[in-house]
Amino acid sequence: MSDFITVREVGLRDGLQLVPFHVDTDTKLAWLEAEADAGVSAFEVTSFVSRKAMPQFADAELVAARAAALPGISAAALALNGRGAERALEAGVGMLVFVISASQAHSKGNAGRSADQALAEFAEIMTQVRACAPERRPRVLAGVATAFGCTLEGAIDPARVRALMSAMAELGPDEMALADTVGYANPAQVKTLCREVKADIGHLSLGLHLHDTRGLALVNVVAGLEAGVTAFDAALGGLGGCPFAPGASGNVATEDLVYLLHTLGLRTGIHLPKLLKVRERLAEWLPGVELHGAVGRAGIPAHQVAEMEPY
Ligand code: ZN
Repeated sequence: MSDFITVREVGLRDGLQLVPFHVDTDTKLAWLEAEADAGVSAFEVTSFVSRKAMPQFADAELVAARAAALPGISAAALALNGRGAERALEAGVGMLVFVISASQAHSKGNAGRSADQALAEFAEIMTQVRACAPERRPRVLAGVATAFGCTLEGAIDPARVRALMSAMAELGPDEMALADTVGYANPAQVKTLCREVKADIGHLSLGLHLHDTRGLALVNVVAGLEAGVTAFDAALGGLGGCPFAPGASGNVATEDLVYLLHTLGLRTGIHLPKLLKVRERLAEWLPGVELHGAVGRAGIPAHQVAEMEPY
């Protein structure tokens, strides 16, 4: 097993979703460049959604294009439907993220369609992706949201998640992920479901998108590692609250995740002291927005600083 774990910064997408004011394109790019400079190499930079529904991402084309021009990073963008995917392809994204919700109620509410409709849409998107010229063809990350529970439906049948993941896997994405969209997952559930899904999807790598809504994100990371998960989404400062739980903490904090992984002897390529400096700048860029995460508050113990740098 490789000891390199991919940490994918999703603050620019998931994290900004609930920030109550518009963050301008230059600030987004400054954030992206600062984290890239700290060694973060994978990002989800924006979301191709209706500009009316989410004005925060009205600059999706611009952010995607400028991110694509930065050397040495993988810049992904989320698309919720075929129209979003078309825009993302036109913008030349390096990676396209497409997610189907395991919860019918969440799928209808979030994307206005059933999971079966979403699967059909994903099949069409894959056809479009394959039709791209090789140099413009993005990698595709396919995932299932509300995989561990849903605010509207409560418990989600793991068999349903596995069936959706397998159906998506057959359509030929490059990577896959499971998302605990509302922070309901527990470590036993994560370990079992990730092991099963990994066995189902074979050679495809499996990532996790975890929210710390109830404080279990980091233990869920460990459970995922034990099940062979090799990529984790995270947001600097634990940005990205839950619309159903106002005031709750958001995505697992990137800095806490990196600290955990490095203490376990795993490599991320990320320079944690530099990343903490970016967190300080983030607090200035997003005045009034509460940042979460423990390492940002407590700092790195002096004797551990060396192991928190890439090696
Ligand atoms: Zn999320």
